[in-house]
Amino acid sequence: MDLMYASTRDANVSVTASQAILKGLSDDGGLFVPKQIPALDVSLKELSGMTYQQTAYAVMKLFFTDFTEEELKSCIRAAYDDKFDTPQIAPLVNADGAYYLELFHGATIAFKDMALSILPHLLTTSARKNQVKNEIVILTATSGDTGKAALSGFADVAGTKIIVFYPKNGVSPIQEKQMVTQKGANTHVIGIHGNFDQAQTGVKQMFADKELEKELAAHGYQFSSANSINIGRLVPQIVYYVYAYARLLAKGEIEDGESINVTVPTGNFGNILAAYYAKHMGLPIAKLICASNENKVLYDFFETGTYDKNRDFMLTSSPSMDILISSNLERLIYRIAGNDAAKNAAFMKRLSDEGVYEITAEMKASLGDFYGNYASEQETAETIRDLYEKTGYVLDTHTAVAAAVYQKYRRQTNDAAKTVIASTASPFKFTRSVMNAIDPAYDAKGDFELADELSRIAKTAVPKAVEEIRTAEVLHKTECEVAQMPDAVKKFLGM
Ligand SMILES: *Cc1c(COP(=O)(O)O)cnc(C)c1O
Repeated sequence: MDLMYASTRDANVSVTASQAILKGLSDDGGLFVPKQIPALDVSLKELSGMTYQQTAYAVMKLFFTDFTEEELKSCIRAAYDDKFDTPQIAPLVNADGAYYLELFHGATIAFKDMALSILPHLLTTSARKNQVKNEIVILTATSGDTGKAALSGFADVAGTKIIVFYPKNGVSPIQEKQMVTQKGANTHVIGIHGNFDQAQTGVKQMFADKELEKELAAHGYQFSSANSINIGRLVPQIVYYVYAYARLLAKGEIEDGESINVTVPTGNFGNILAAYYAKHMGLPIAKLICASNENKVLYDFFETGTYDKNRDFMLTSSPSMDILISSNLERLIYRIAGNDAAKNAAFMKRLSDEGVYEITAEMKASLGDFYGNYASEQETAETIRDLYEKTGYVLDTHTAVAAAVYQKYRRQTNDAAKTVIASTASPFKFTRSVMNAIDPAYDAKGDFELADELSRIAKTAVPKAVEEIRTAEVLHKTECEVAQMPDAVKKFLGM
């Protein structure tokens, strides 16, 4: 019997894993969720002897039950290979009593690589399984990080093309350079004369355009999306929590069955939801510590039971967490509403109409797995400096938010359980903020000078992702007006 997927907004939807991956989002606007969370069927002891790839298979086979063993193993092999700069894929580093799970050893040195390196393979396999003959065209709007991770994941994957729109004057120079130097004949990067919201709206309009859909089909194409609500991105993120636990057990840091805590720097709620799923598969996780930056909508939600996005949007030094609508939270709301699609849909309608909803007391009572808190800009910078001075280990700004919140949790609860902190980006990705936190005098230096200086003080080589773009040739020079986005797509596809 295959594990089927329901929509969080329509009780009648029931699709296979491969169909859910292909569609991304349900037609009713809901997210796909597994009808049950499967239990791990191997012991923690057995897991402690497995490689990352073996762990990935042990977890994903329980969710993607309509994939054959060979299909799934071949996706895993193609994803977790020497694109990662360590055979461990996601190493654990102990610093000052916490275990940092480094999720930034992939091609773009941020944790999005963990899922975006396998999604293209899951997607093309799903297309084959469902007799989709069209070539898949991935359309993405990016404010910086997701675009590069998606480009790098889809580059030269047969049967796909990828088009990324970014705000020409709205990303950092390093982020822009990373994207416009992307290799791969199937990649296309376009700077738009507008902001990120306009890029995002333009992409959504193309997805909803039925005429365009017909035109594409006539040329043998169909659109798909690589964004973080695809179940094909969520499930691969469960793997590294299982792997982290197994590594702690293998190293004798914990006893078999001992509960650990997990701290996650959170934006869209995808990464921490994966940890929640891992817990409900039977992995001994006690608390899920949800860390926010000054955009603390999730902290307020866990405190009060009210989700309220009507507030000022703050620009912080951890931009990948600057989010007021955490899309993946919908999967948790659905679950704590008793898997009731109608009830969840009513909350989501209030969110889109009024920007606010309040869960019931009963639902709030079932959030005991979670602890929420946030770190200010100053606390984040101090955490980077203090840990560096104490241990020599350098955190990026997002991970530092998590570390600061973990310290608050320890002070408030005295809970001394071993804790894994998801380390979501290399400090080399946010070099300027990181170096300024250590010493404001660094601000006078250029970007690549700062990377060299960071390499010296952290005693780590400059990652390949940064080295490459120092000298890489600019391959993408297309710019366009917001209104011309569909024309740019058609031109690239030769329509
Ligand atoms: C995307 C991102 C996050 C937030 O993860 P969510 O799954 O959206 O909660 C945190 N840190 C970094 C570096 C990211 O790129």
